[in-house]
Amino acid sequence: MKIKLKFVCASRNGGKIKEFRRLFENLDIELLSLDEINFPGEIDETGRNFQENAFIKAKAAADFSGLPAFADDSGLEVDALGGAPGAYSARFGGHGLDDAGRRAFLLSQMEDIPEGARTARFTCALCLYFPGGKTLEVSQSCEGEILREERGSGGFGYDALFLCGDKTFSELDAAEKDKISHRGKAVREFAEKFKLFSSF
Ligand code: IMP
Repeated sequence: MKIKLKFVCASRNGGKIKEFRRLFENLDIELLSLDEINFPGEIDETGRNFQENAFIKAKAAADFSGLPAFADDSGLEVDALGGAPGAYSARFGGHGLDDAGRRAFLLSQMEDIPEGARTARFTCALCLYFPGGKTLEVSQSCEGEILREERGSGGFGYDALFLCGDKTFSELDAAEKDKISHRGKAVREFAEKFKLFSSF
């Protein structure tokens, strides 16, 4: 009988945990949520960038549980806004806003930015932290531009404003988005690196 390793996924977001469980299932690893290890409270995302935040979350879960822990962090960087909202993507415009409110806030911040200067990228950082301090980290981005109005109805977050090629992320179905998105690319790179890493 094959014994499955147990890793913690440093998230309370059910959607994310489900997505990452699929990835780790293929790697023969069982993923426990923060709730399943009785992790108290929230982990403060005090990092300056996505990679630092992924590291902070994974380390906190590993330190608490004594198990290897996995975390992600992602967001949008707009060049004309000096890389904002960046690590603040989920809180851009203040805590009271929902996704639609944050998109409206982003548009209001970019009113004066002309076509050609509205370039942006989504980035996704992943970190697997082993007790003792070894890590496996990847980061991937997807380049695009911010439209002046929303297009498409799928997705979440800033998807409806993010044009990649000739479609916004909201106009793609999940499989199409996975092929080109920051998260899809990061997950594939992580799986490749993990297979190499665990074969030694
Ligand atoms: P976190 O990785 O859960 O901290 O999410 C950061 C924030 O970045 C989300 O709340 C979204 O606003 C934004 N974001 C990250 N990835 C995407 C994406 O694929 N589409 C749209 N928005 C995203």
